[in-house]
Amino acid sequence: MPRMLIAGNWKMNGLSADGTALARDLAERYRGAGGPGFDLLVCPPATLIAPVGHVLGDSGVMLGGQDCHAEPKGAHTGDISAEMLADLGCGHVIVGHSERRQDHAEGDATVKAKAGAAHRAGLTAIVCIGETEEERDAGKALAVCASQLAGSLPEGATATNTVIAYEPVWAIGTGRTPTVGDVAEMHAHIRRELEGRISDPAVVRLLYGGSVKPGNAAELLGVDHVNGALVGGASLKADDFWAIAEAAG
Ligand code: PEP
Repeated sequence: MPRMLIAGNWKMNGLSADGTALARDLAERYRGAGGPGFDLLVCPPATLIAPVGHVLGDSGVMLGGQDCHAEPKGAHTGDISAEMLADLGCGHVIVGHSERRQDHAEGDATVKAKAGAAHRAGLTAIVCIGETEEERDAGKALAVCASQLAGSLPEGATATNTVIAYEPVWAIGTGRTPTVGDVAEMHAHIRRELEGRISDPAVVRLLYGGSVKPGNAAELLGVDHVNGALVGGASLKADDFWAIAEAAG
């Protein structure tokens, strides 16, 4: 069983004072827990990566980016490369989040290129996949996620440099979650679909994401093939994020 990973996606939230205060709180809790049985990762907005990294220090809480460009450098105004994230101490980067897929028209080919760039920079790519509500209602959820997975994984993906996050689009930020049965079906499906596409498919970490809260974390994290959570809204409150993490440990 892979070790649980609880990842916080702060999205476009946080200024210096509140972002560093949240990071400090989490670092103290993680240190105080004395080697908890879960990995904790925070992915602040780009503007806060450096100060948050400074505050996290050697606490053991890991640092990640929310996106990266597919190129290592160049004329791409406003973008950030995987090398730049690594340079700031990031070990992970989220790619293919549904908000990037929707707001920036990122398709599987782009996500694959970004994941490849992350790998070349020594980062672990958290590759997000997930169906829309219409696709689920039409009975296409499994096929859509299999197709996104096939299209988004670069050559050379391994259980070390890649994490998969299943995030049903309709569950993100809505307070709605799939049934435990639906999560179990999807995660078993993803595990099977990884065969032949990644090395060591049995130990690739599969995260569930979409309205994870302290009240539903234990149930969702208890599902077979769920090896952690990608948490949006609830990762902005230290008490809530920590309660979710403790449900993993
Ligand atoms: C996310 O943005 O990845 C996410 C899962 O958001 P939320 O937890 O707010 O649904």
